[in-house]
Amino acid sequence: MASIDALIKTLDRIHGRGYRAYQDLRGRYQFADLELVIDHVQGDPFAAPSKLRVRVPMRAAALPQALWQTPVRRLGLSDFLARAGRAALQNTGRERTGSGRSGAVYVDAGGQEILERSAVVIEPDAVELRLEAGLPAQGRRILGPAARQLLTETIPEGARQALLWDRLDAAQGQAFVACLENQEHIRSRLGELGLLAFVANGSLLPRESGASDRPLRREEIVAFESPAALTQRMDLPNPVAGVTEILGMGIPRGVTLIVGGGYHGKSTLLRALERAVYPHIPGDGRELVVADPTLVKIRAEDGRRIERVDIHGFISSLPGPAAADPHSFQAENASGSTSQAASIVEAVEAGARGLLLDEDTSATNFMVRDARMQALVDKAHEPITPFVDRVRELYEVQGVSTLLVMGGSGDYFEVADRVVRMRDYRAFEVTQEARQIAREQATGRDFEADEPLRPSAPRALEAKSFDPSRGRRDVRIDAPERDRIRYGRQLIDLRAVEQLVDHSQTRAIGWAIHLASQRFMRDNATLPQILDALEALLDEAGLDALQPYNLARPRRFEIAAAINRLRSVRVR
Ligand code: ADP
Ligand code: MG
Repeated sequence: MASIDALIKTLDRIHGRGYRAYQDLRGRYQFADLELVIDHVQGDPFAAPSKLRVRVPMRAAALPQALWQTPVRRLGLSDFLARAGRAALQNTGRERTGSGRSGAVYVDAGGQEILERSAVVIEPDAVELRLEAGLPAQGRRILGPAARQLLTETIPEGARQALLWDRLDAAQGQAFVACLENQEHIRSRLGELGLLAFVANGSLLPRESGASDRPLRREEIVAFESPAALTQRMDLPNPVAGVTEILGMGIPRGVTLIVGGGYHGKSTLLRALERAVYPHIPGDGRELVVADPTLVKIRAEDGRRIERVDIHGFISSLPGPAAADPHSFQAENASGSTSQAASIVEAVEAGARGLLLDEDTSATNFMVRDARMQALVDKAHEPITPFVDRVRELYEVQGVSTLLVMGGSGDYFEVADRVVRMRDYRAFEVTQEARQIAREQATGRDFEADEPLRPSAPRALEAKSFDPSRGRRDVRIDAPERDRIRYGRQLIDLRAVEQLVDHSQTRAIGWAIHLASQRFMRDNATLPQILDALEALLDEAGLDALQPYNLARPRRFEIAAAINRLRSVRVR
């Protein structure tokens, strides 16, 4: 390993030379109290920034062992340190000079969710902060002194602020880890309590705007309050405001309907539950809203591709001379209803134990056909078995629960185990009322499923149908945005995959698919088996099994969703 003097010497030597000479910096440098590792040097000042790591020995960092001894605590502390690193370093851009990204520093620390990510890695003997930096240049000429300042002062000093326990706000760090531990404790108890989700009283659900996931800051915001009939007591391992027991709404497994007038807070509650598959940072307002991590949001997505999905439970014989077989349905350009059916079957295939649906984003004809429409368009000429006639079987036969926002059709009253009504952002339990109405006012509609719902067989994928090459490169995979992956020459459109929350998850999905296609798609392995293998690898080796920078851990459901939307994918 080279010394800091060697680094300074190199910088003096290459000062004023062309940008290429920066390549000489690659390597490891020993400072008095830490180690700087330069893994990748950008090709020019405008290219993606250089990739660096700062490693601090655990003796020097002195992170309390209690805060990283369990996987949950280690996740919490890593996330806290990454945010501290971003706070210490990322604003240096303001005083930077030079061309392109000269002097800019990026730490990939995430948004409102707490996710496993590559930005900070805590090991028993060292803690590592990974970051990106733009090496300074004037035009394309190296600015040696500016680089020296960046690499020997700014970055090491920022890393010390983020990684040395005595430089951090210890109380804040402890509270951050405690908050995450509380959430994961609640999550671990959902199963034994027969719950799909828990929404603590006092939670603040609405967000700043449709484009921002930050909490709404407003006087008239209504804090969540559970209806008495659904109130659940939950113990906490760490006290919150002095108490270790809280109350909130428990949503039991089964079929739950959320009804209410327009603009009364239905979708806001559902969105909070969608996001509650991930833990949230303290102060988010949803840090005690916790859901079963296998809940999957389903929506209509016309135009998507479908590769041989068995949707016969929802779609029977289709019209036309070249009609697709609903047992192995294929479409380059799915309709609203077929896309929604396929997304349900795919979610269940990947292991979902609960579905979340919102009428706002569902295909009406997929959700229900009322008595009048049944009279006008007879069953013989309607391939769709609406969700209302399958939702109970889905639960009773396959153990898949449903939480459904439905303000527009009372035909769901019969099939719901419970009904929650939102009124002025307040939740009321109105199951008995809904049952009473269902008894007094028959819907008059006929049950339309003509055969029982049979589980569909998981699909095996053709490894050859994943081609990551583009131009002269054998592997070219990137994620230009949170909802798009460029996989070789193809674009995977993830705009309808609503539980994908972090751009770094999207990057990770691209690499995960590639790794899976190389290592796990053999011997007729089915998609759930491939996802199992991938998760086992990530559990074991962490995200570094994919690559060491700018990744956050995706769920298996979002990986599956991306595979299912890759247009070249073929089932064996
Ligand atoms: P719905 O789906 O019932 O039509 P939304 O959930 O979309 O209604 O909510 C309508 C509006 O009310 C949104 O702008 C949302 O931010 C706001 N809102 C939702 N819940 C609350 C709340 N608890 N307090 C204050 N405003 C809220
Ligand atoms: Mg709505």
